Amino acid sequence: MKKTFSIGGVHPDDKKISAGCRIETLPVPKTVYISMAQHLGGPAKAVVAAGDKVKTGQVIGEPTGFISAYVHSSVSGTVKSVGLRKDIVGIPVVHVEIEVEGDEWMEGIDTSDTLVTDIPQDPKFIVDRIKSNGVVGLGGATFPTNVKLCPPPDKKADILILNGAECEPYLTSDYRIMIEKPRQIVVGAALMKRVLGVGRVVIGIEENKPEAIASMGEAAKALAAVSPDYSGIEVMTLKKKYPQGGEKQLIDAVVHRQVKSMGLPIDVGAVVQNVATSLAVYDAVQKNRPLIDNTVTVTGECFPKQSNLLVRVGTPISYIIDYLGGVPETAAKVVSGGPMMGKAISNLDAATLKGTSSVLFLTEAQTKRQPETNCIRCGKCAEACPMGLEPFLLNKLARNGMMDELEQNAVQDCIECGCCLYSCPAYIPLLDTIRMAKGEVIKIIRSRTAPKK
Ligand code: SF4
Ligand code: SF4
Repeated sequence: MKKTFSIGGVHPDDKKISAGCRIETLPVPKTVYISMAQHLGGPAKAVVAAGDKVKTGQVIGEPTGFISAYVHSSVSGTVKSVGLRKDIVGIPVVHVEIEVEGDEWMEGIDTSDTLVTDIPQDPKFIVDRIKSNGVVGLGGATFPTNVKLCPPPDKKADILILNGAECEPYLTSDYRIMIEKPRQIVVGAALMKRVLGVGRVVIGIEENKPEAIASMGEAAKALAAVSPDYSGIEVMTLKKKYPQGGEKQLIDAVVHRQVKSMGLPIDVGAVVQNVATSLAVYDAVQKNRPLIDNTVTVTGECFPKQSNLLVRVGTPISYIIDYLGGVPETAAKVVSGGPMMGKAISNLDAATLKGTSSVLFLTEAQTKRQPETNCIRCGKCAEACPMGLEPFLLNKLARNGMMDELEQNAVQDCIECGCCLYSCPAYIPLLDTIRMAKGEVIKIIRSRTAPKK
């Protein structure tokens, strides 16, 4: 019996129509715009100025706090400006604009394809490389990876779980890297295993990706034969169910441990990293290569050229779309991420970030919401909620501004997966109301726990 998480979940059509597209390297654009806010935590501080010459892989932004990350130039050329530019949803963020000249990399970066399998002995060396090369979680949260790999001394992990579920419909970038770069991902896992001091690594992949399950399994087996550093790394086939890629859901599926309300995976001895993060860890540690590019799925039924592209960070989304033939006439909405959790792109001139995983085109028929009707108390939203919440109740409380009751009913635990909205026969915009209420409640909780000035 294949494993999955125990509470809620839904089964949307997976629509992996770009799954067969090999990763193609997108030509470097003439100009890139690199955001200083590409990670969870404080934005980086730009350390270059207009007129500076930069090389590919050079630091252009430094972290501003414990939870922050380095940002590197993804190209070589001349800095044209450092200033505010709108991100995908139209919020002004500091970007470094660089006009591209050639592609000269910083010294000390190994740009070859040679697989490096020797695992450094010193965990600190590994963590330092991950930090200095700006690696952040690529499963959606963009939390600095070096911080996640160094839990407080009173918390100890006994398992590392790699998320290869890619449960959002349409997305295939993780699928492609698991097929095309499986050994690099396994080396990345062994590096993180060394840092955490755990004996077991499980790579969780859903059953609808048999090729990825096979390639990752073969890579784990082949490397285990090379060195004991690779012992204890296994692939686990998971039943297909959304949102299996949620950290708490994946931990439940793999080891049947439940993370409590407002708790963290480390509370139950687990650390979860995405397979794309593992690949970035490999590059950072074994190649000293900063996180300056990532694989982006470009897809949608109305889009004629399904693709998985290796894109330099800071590439304008409009450049990617033009390269593939332009916006299709029937597209009504463009989304960054999947249809369940992605964000609508309101500014196509915005630049890609380290965590950009897809550009999805949807038609009017795919996005048009039916008119909302009254709740019929069918309970489908509660059945679907993977966090065990009561979305119909949260919606009612949110609409009445009842903050104390929202907190008591754990709105702060909502992972914004959209399962409730997906299941509701009355077309009530549950996700929208609950997401807004969650933001407000988290602000209240933080203000209560913030140190007094
Ligand atoms: S969006 Fe929040 S409330 Fe709705 S199903 Fe997901 S976790 Fe539950
Ligand atoms: S699924 Fe919709 S109609 Fe059914 S209980 Fe939830 S909110 Fe009400």
